[in-house]
Amino acid sequence: MTELYDVLIVGAGPGGAMAAKVAGENGLRAAIIERKTDIKAIHRICTMIINIDEENFAEYITYRNKRFIFPHNGFTINYDGPMRKIYGFHIITPCGNRFRIGDAIAGSKGEKPPVGLMIDKGLLNKTLVDEARANGVDVFTNTNINNVRKESDCVVITDNWGNEYRGKFVIAADGVNSRLARKLGFNKERIFLGTYKDYARAYEGVEIPEAEVLMFCMGWKCSISLAPELPEGHFHVSAASYDINQDLDAEMDRFLSSEPFATWFRNAKEIGHRTSCVSNIASPIQVPFKDNVLLVGDAGWMQETSIVGAIMPGWSAANAVTEALITGHINKEGVKNYLDWWDKYLFQPYGKRLASSGSAEIRDYLAAEDIDYLASLVPEVQPGTMNFFMIMSTIGRAFSAVLPQIQEERPDIMQKLMAMRSFPRELVLAKRRNEGCAIMS
Ligand SMILES: Cc1cc2nc3c(=O)[nH]c(=O)nc-3n(C[C@H](O)[C@H](O)[C@H](O)COP(=O)(O)OP(=O)(O)OC[C@H]3O[C@@H](n4cnc5c(N)ncnc54)[C@H](O)[C@@H]3O)c2cc1C
Repeated sequence: MTELYDVLIVGAGPGGAMAAKVAGENGLRAAIIERKTDIKAIHRICTMIINIDEENFAEYITYRNKRFIFPHNGFTINYDGPMRKIYGFHIITPCGNRFRIGDAIAGSKGEKPPVGLMIDKGLLNKTLVDEARANGVDVFTNTNINNVRKESDCVVITDNWGNEYRGKFVIAADGVNSRLARKLGFNKERIFLGTYKDYARAYEGVEIPEAEVLMFCMGWKCSISLAPELPEGHFHVSAASYDINQDLDAEMDRFLSSEPFATWFRNAKEIGHRTSCVSNIASPIQVPFKDNVLLVGDAGWMQETSIVGAIMPGWSAANAVTEALITGHINKEGVKNYLDWWDKYLFQPYGKRLASSGSAEIRDYLAAEDIDYLASLVPEVQPGTMNFFMIMSTIGRAFSAVLPQIQEERPDIMQKLMAMRSFPRELVLAKRRNEGCAIMS
């Protein structure tokens, strides 16, 4: 019989790494199991921006004294690595017009505070796991967990080497497409929203104006975005689509050879670091618990609960497991605080909304010149934010205000906008589901 751990944590992304750190600090007998050999390596595309000094999941994260501080939840995490200040989110039209949420020019002169900090997520994960190890947590890398079963007194998980691990609880932090969530049957109750493929190339020697923002470029056959990377002059270009047949490489090349983007990249050299991901997007899980397994972060969410949106449930889940062990309630009741936390801060305010998302593709309705025209109507810089939901409401508010002008000047575009808005969501989802490739059961 193998050792019985208090808690086993699967996955050393931000969610699992944080859970391991807290389990170690709380004196639990714990192990974290990660399929990568190098915890610091990030293969799955991520822009690695943490939004700061604004509301985010009812938290106001800030960075001081080499620590990210979570004052509402009441904990801190150490981070002493490279950082880059980010001032907001810009939509860039095919001719290079911008709709600006956040002022990169004022920001780079020190006249506006940043709304995001780009970090090295791999280093953050490694720091958390090193702290866990220092507190006695066992760390297994190069180990892929492939099954889970409940026994009378524990949960048993198995790995690709044929080993078994036993824990009173398991924290599944194995990310989007969580194998543990699927094996436990969670996916049968989720709504499948499509398969999203996303791929990025990194370049050095890029010259982009107003660069300290996340840039979303519209008018292409797929979603194209640009973001600075940590070293000066380094950027990544990413292309993403729900259309599994879309040639992302070819569309990225077309983008990079079109003006004004070609000028931005004229002296650029690809530096060989490519990341990608194929994500089966399913609706968030309302109750992330089954058979003493607690889901945290993307494992219970959709594509991206975000770095801090994984750290916070990792922290809460490990504390709830600690309470359950103290009270002797080795069951759902014992970890009630975590389930309440997830419901209050993630599922009720955001999870429900995300489950009903899915609108028609803008590119199916608006031509490049339509997008250029629309962006030209709102030249004023909007207040900076990196909160996804705030970005969406800022866009909605700004363009609602100019609808009468669009109706007056360009009734043809108004008609297209109305047609796009009234296209049935069910048809959008049916197409995505049909093209998608999820294994939901
Ligand atoms: C295009 C894109 C851009 C993004 N940009 C940002 C951003 O700028 N800021 C932000 O905050 N978030 C961003 N995100 C989201 C962010 O990357 C994730 O939400 C976050 O990393 C989730 O953390 P996690 O710990 O839940 O999962 P992950 O970070 O995915 O970690 C899961 C870990 O589990 C391991 N694992 C998986 N399966 C197994 C298994 N069977 N056995 C053992 N180990 C396993 C994986 O190797 C991985 O290390 C972005 C996401 C995408 C797709």
